Amino acid sequence: MPALLTSNPKEVAALAAEFEFASATEILRWAFEQFGSSAAIGTSFQGAGLVTIHHAVTAGLPLPVFTIDTGLLFPETLELKTRLEDYFGILIESLVPERTVGQQAQDIAAELWLSNPDLCCTLRKVEPLQKKLSQLDAWIVGLRREQSAGRARIQILELYEFDKLREKNILKVNPLAQWSREQVWDYIRRHGIPYNPLMDRGFRSIGCFPCTRVVISGQDDRAGRWTGFDKNECGIHTFLGDKI
Ligand code: SF4
Repeated sequence: MPALLTSNPKEVAALAAEFEFASATEILRWAFEQFGSSAAIGTSFQGAGLVTIHHAVTAGLPLPVFTIDTGLLFPETLELKTRLEDYFGILIESLVPERTVGQQAQDIAAELWLSNPDLCCTLRKVEPLQKKLSQLDAWIVGLRREQSAGRARIQILELYEFDKLREKNILKVNPLAQWSREQVWDYIRRHGIPYNPLMDRGFRSIGCFPCTRVVISGQDDRAGRWTGFDKNECGIHTFLGDKI
């Protein structure tokens, strides 16, 4: 594992600038060559995640793939996971929270997403992810700059401090940072990749069923998440703080 790379912000920034001119396949190949299976693709099966997995599989890169199953996903999303495993010929690891939804209701609050969605997301998404990331050096995701104002400045490579005591950093890889929504969906249709049927019913970014609504034309992709709350990130892309 290239320790230097995950401890050297200047080297990461220089590579990120070079990767502005690289293809998604080139970026994924680099990640696999650098980190092997300590690099993994994390996905919630939005369009860009599907395109990322397709690039990796087509290039013959056996990058592990994982998702977070909060226990509150739409049935369509769970079915899609199985369809994708068949289509790509891979196994997708499901990360699960410590408590079931029922245990959370008993121990903390029923329908916690209505009273404290930040805590609900921390327990059901961020904590399982943190456990997984503690075993990885590179985390590959499908974030795109166009998705929301908060994502407009993401870099293709971003280095974060993960665990100060263990001096462990994590490299976040955004191979599709530059892609538009149109490019993503052209690619999915051209290659016949299975996708979430809720997308055809007006959903643009699909998470847990209590916190996902149809998006009105003209709104950004994440406008249908956590309606009624001043919140448009679940925390999995913000808990790491500022990049180093
Ligand atoms: Fe809970 Fe909603 Fe976050 Fe899912 S998206 S973990 S239901 S607050």
